[in-house]
Amino acid sequence: MSCISGKNGIVPCEDHKDCIDKAMEIAERTCSEKQLKFTNLRREILRMIWEGHGPKKAYDLLSELQLTNQSAKPATVYRTLEFLIENGFIHKINSLNAFVGCSHPLKQQDCYFLICDNCNDISEHCDPAITSAIKTITERNQFTLKNTTLEIAGHCNSCIQHRD
Ligand SMILES: [Zn+2]
Ligand SMILES: [Zn+2]
Ligand SMILES: [Zn+2]
Repeated sequence: MSCISGKNGIVPCEDHKDCIDKAMEIAERTCSEKQLKFTNLRREILRMIWEGHGPKKAYDLLSELQLTNQSAKPATVYRTLEFLIENGFIHKINSLNAFVGCSHPLKQQDCYFLICDNCNDISEHCDPAITSAIKTITERNQFTLKNTTLEIAGHCNSCIQHRD
């Protein structure tokens, strides 16, 4: 996934621990600014999503959580994921039915995701041209936009280069 300390989505991070720390710090600060409770559970699940360097499924999060908290239920995980999505800390990748950490949680833009079919790498990018194209399309169709998730499937550069 594209990491928080990377200059852009394509450059992988040097030390992913920094990305985790930064993601946790931003979430911590945002919650206190918005007066939201950053509970242990919310903190734990956000960290789990960031720890795997790729998309995470809800049931993997649940079984990880159950290692330390046997009473954790699927509903607990889904409620927490909803909170993290609503506040822009993570994204749901619908085509994979999985979750990734947001690489730029302070700048909510219309993002698009490039998803490699082969290695499952996901990178997050944003482009003002997409924002304005979507605005034009929704206005033209008198449609009220709630949120946009654009998922583009294909092969990443490193998979293409190592194909032979
Ligand atoms: Zn990283
Ligand atoms: Zn994002
Ligand atoms: Zn790939």
